[in-house]
Amino acid sequence: MSDLSDLYQEVILDHNRRPRNWGPLPDATRSAEGYNPLCGDRLKLHVKIEGDRIAGVSFEGSGCAISKASASLMTDAIKGRTLGEAFELFDRVHEMLTTPIALPVDESKVGKLAVLSGVREFPTRVKCASLAWHTLKSALINPAEVAHTE
Ligand code: ZN
Repeated sequence: MSDLSDLYQEVILDHNRRPRNWGPLPDATRSAEGYNPLCGDRLKLHVKIEGDRIAGVSFEGSGCAISKASASLMTDAIKGRTLGEAFELFDRVHEMLTTPIALPVDESKVGKLAVLSGVREFPTRVKCASLAWHTLKSALINPAEVAHTE
Protein backbone atom coordinates (compact mmCIF):
# COMPACT_ATOMS: atom_id res chain seq x y z
CA MET A 1 0.00 0.00 0.00
CA SER A 2 2.88 2.39 0.71
CA ASP A 3 4.21 1.82 -2.81
CA LEU A 4 0.85 2.88 -4.15
CA SER A 5 0.83 5.96 -1.99
CA ASP A 6 4.30 7.02 -3.16
CA LEU A 7 3.14 6.46 -6.70
CA TYR A 8 0.00 8.44 -5.88
CA GLN A 9 2.04 11.47 -4.84
CA GLU A 10 4.25 11.20 -7.90
CA VAL A 11 1.41 10.81 -10.39
CA ILE A 12 -0.68 13.59 -8.85
CA LEU A 13 2.25 16.01 -8.99
CA ASP A 14 3.13 15.03 -12.53
CA HIS A 15 -0.41 15.37 -13.88
CA ASN A 16 -0.90 18.62 -12.00
CA ARG A 17 2.23 20.06 -13.57
CA ARG A 18 1.56 18.71 -17.06
CA PRO A 19 -2.15 18.00 -17.38
CA ARG A 20 -2.96 15.78 -20.37
CA ASN A 21 -5.71 16.82 -22.76
CA TRP A 22 -5.79 20.33 -21.35
CA GLY A 23 -7.56 23.16 -23.21
CA PRO A 24 -10.58 23.72 -25.43
CA LEU A 25 -11.86 21.15 -27.91
CA PRO A 26 -13.17 23.08 -30.93
CA ASP A 27 -15.12 20.16 -32.44
CA ALA A 28 -16.60 18.91 -29.18
CA THR A 29 -20.14 17.55 -29.39
CA ARG A 30 -20.82 17.65 -25.65
CA SER A 31 -19.61 19.61 -22.69
CA ALA A 32 -20.37 19.84 -19.03
CA GLU A 33 -19.25 21.83 -16.08
CA GLY A 34 -18.47 20.53 -12.65
CA TYR A 35 -18.07 22.35 -9.38
CA ASN A 36 -16.93 21.08 -6.02
CA PRO A 37 -17.93 23.69 -3.44
CA LEU A 38 -16.05 21.90 -0.65
CA CYS A 39 -12.72 22.76 -2.24
CA GLY A 40 -13.62 25.31 -4.92
CA ASP A 41 -12.62 23.11 -7.86
CA ARG A 42 -14.17 24.11 -11.16
CA LEU A 43 -13.96 21.96 -14.23
CA LYS A 44 -15.17 22.23 -17.79
CA LEU A 45 -15.10 19.02 -19.76
CA HIS A 46 -15.35 18.79 -23.55
CA VAL A 47 -16.15 15.54 -25.29
CA LYS A 48 -16.31 14.64 -28.95
CA ILE A 49 -18.52 11.65 -29.57
CA GLU A 50 -18.41 9.79 -32.87
CA GLY A 51 -20.99 7.05 -33.13
CA ASP A 52 -20.65 5.14 -29.88
CA ARG A 53 -17.09 6.19 -29.18
CA ILE A 54 -15.33 9.00 -27.34
CA ALA A 55 -13.16 10.29 -30.16
CA GLY A 56 -11.79 13.25 -28.26
CA VAL A 57 -11.85 14.74 -24.80
CA SER A 58 -10.29 17.72 -23.08
CA PHE A 59 -10.74 19.77 -19.94
CA GLU A 60 -10.16 23.23 -18.55
CA GLY A 61 -10.70 24.81 -15.20
CA SER A 62 -9.12 25.75 -11.96
CA GLY A 63 -8.79 23.60 -8.92
CA CYS A 64 -6.50 21.79 -6.58
CA ALA A 65 -3.81 19.36 -7.70
CA ILE A 66 -6.01 16.33 -7.02
CA SER A 67 -8.96 17.56 -9.09
CA LYS A 68 -6.67 18.46 -11.97
CA ALA A 69 -4.67 15.24 -11.85
CA SER A 70 -7.84 13.18 -11.64
CA ALA A 71 -9.30 14.94 -14.70
CA SER A 72 -6.03 14.48 -16.56
CA LEU A 73 -5.90 10.76 -15.76
CA MET A 74 -9.56 10.36 -16.65
CA THR A 75 -9.27 11.99 -20.06
CA ASP A 76 -6.34 9.68 -20.88
CA ALA A 77 -8.30 6.66 -19.70
CA ILE A 78 -11.54 7.29 -21.62
CA LYS A 79 -10.21 8.56 -24.93
CA GLY A 80 -11.09 6.08 -27.65
CA ARG A 81 -13.42 4.09 -25.40
CA THR A 82 -17.06 3.38 -26.12
CA LEU A 83 -19.71 5.14 -24.04
CA GLY A 84 -20.51 1.84 -22.34
CA GLU A 85 -16.88 1.38 -21.36
CA ALA A 86 -16.72 4.93 -20.02
CA PHE A 87 -19.79 4.37 -17.81
CA GLU A 88 -18.31 1.11 -16.59
CA LEU A 89 -15.07 2.87 -15.71
CA PHE A 90 -17.05 5.55 -13.87
CA ASP A 91 -18.66 2.84 -11.75
CA ARG A 92 -15.35 1.15 -11.04
CA VAL A 93 -13.62 4.38 -10.05
CA HIS A 94 -16.59 5.38 -7.90
CA GLU A 95 -16.48 2.00 -6.20
CA MET A 96 -12.74 2.36 -5.64
CA LEU A 97 -13.01 5.85 -4.15
CA THR A 98 -15.73 4.75 -1.75
CA THR A 99 -13.93 1.58 -0.62
CA PRO A 100 -12.84 1.91 3.02
CA ILE A 101 -9.14 2.70 3.32
CA ALA A 102 -8.53 -0.52 5.26
CA LEU A 103 -9.56 -2.61 2.28
CA PRO A 104 -7.31 -3.23 -0.70
CA VAL A 105 -8.19 -1.87 -4.11
CA ASP A 106 -8.49 -4.30 -7.00
CA GLU A 107 -6.05 -2.73 -9.43
CA SER A 108 -7.06 -5.06 -12.24
CA LYS A 109 -10.41 -3.26 -12.40
CA VAL A 110 -9.09 0.25 -12.85
CA GLY A 111 -5.54 -0.08 -14.22
CA LYS A 112 -3.37 2.98 -13.68
CA LEU A 113 -6.32 4.85 -12.16
CA ALA A 114 -5.58 2.81 -9.03
CA VAL A 115 -3.21 5.59 -7.96
CA LEU A 116 -6.30 7.68 -7.23
CA SER A 117 -7.17 5.29 -4.43
CA GLY A 118 -4.50 7.11 -2.37
CA VAL A 119 -6.98 9.95 -1.95
CA ARG A 120 -9.01 7.77 0.43
CA GLU A 121 -6.50 8.69 3.12
CA PHE A 122 -7.93 12.20 2.94
CA PRO A 123 -11.73 11.85 3.02
CA THR A 124 -12.36 15.53 2.37
CA ARG A 125 -10.45 15.24 -0.91
CA VAL A 126 -12.41 12.32 -2.32
CA LYS A 127 -14.80 14.78 -3.96
CA CYS A 128 -11.83 16.49 -5.62
CA ALA A 129 -10.92 13.16 -7.21
CA SER A 130 -14.47 12.27 -8.23
CA LEU A 131 -15.39 15.69 -9.67
CA ALA A 132 -14.07 14.93 -13.16
CA TRP A 133 -15.94 11.63 -13.23
CA HIS A 134 -19.26 13.17 -12.24
CA THR A 135 -18.72 15.86 -14.85
CA LEU A 136 -18.03 13.18 -17.43
CA LYS A 137 -21.24 11.38 -16.56
CA SER A 138 -23.31 14.52 -17.00
CA ALA A 139 -21.59 15.28 -20.32
CA LEU A 140 -22.38 11.79 -21.59
CA ILE A 141 -25.95 11.69 -20.31
CA ASN A 142 -26.98 15.17 -21.37
CA PRO A 143 -27.73 15.07 -25.11
CA ALA A 144 -27.66 18.85 -25.48
CA GLU A 145 -25.19 20.51 -27.77
CA VAL A 146 -22.29 22.39 -26.31
CA ALA A 147 -23.52 25.28 -24.24
CA HIS A 148 -21.54 28.46 -24.65
CA THR A 149 -21.74 30.65 -21.62
CA GLU A 150 -19.46 33.40 -22.87
ZN1 ZN B 1 -9.99 20.03 -4.68
